[in-house]
Amino acid sequence: MCSQCNYPQLLKSTGLGSTPNRLRVMEIIGDNNSPLSSREIYNTLNRTRSINRVTVYRILDLLVENGLIERINSGGRSFRYGLAPNEHHRPHPHFYCKNCGNMECLSPELLSINIDPMNRTFPGQVENIDVRLEGICKICLGSSFRVQGSGVKKGFRSCAFLS
Ligand SMILES: [Zn+2]
Ligand SMILES: [Zn+2]
Ligand SMILES: [Zn+2]
Repeated sequence: MCSQCNYPQLLKSTGLGSTPNRLRVMEIIGDNNSPLSSREIYNTLNRTRSINRVTVYRILDLLVENGLIERINSGGRSFRYGLAPNEHHRPHPHFYCKNCGNMECLSPELLSINIDPMNRTFPGQVENIDVRLEGICKICLGSSFRVQGSGVKKGFRSCAFLS
């Protein structure tokens, strides 16, 4: 639950009107402590009001385009949505469990990234760094989980990428 963000104001600050549906989508995403899939957002929204899926997708696209929420790749072609960094929320890495598909927000302090060398040599401008760590979450590690195929039994494989 976020008590610091004023969602109507955030919507207005980008020039987007604060419609009830947009506001509700912001609240659902902002009040959850981990990023949500569009299906989860749709299901939550649909519990209290009747709305069609396409409308929810359009709102999500609009909020991403306006920098209010961020779309986080959660493996393959699936995505999760979280609040975009703002004055109350620092950019932070995410951990993705390849077994159960859950994604969690990690504290910004857990991983530090130095982009100075990048800025010195890369001829473009970096605007956003998207860090996703991938592995097996503690719930899955605790259950009778076995990694199929790969020789990896335990431990974390991480990949950090820039986008
Ligand atoms: Zn907030
Ligand atoms: Zn898991
Ligand atoms: Zn997050």
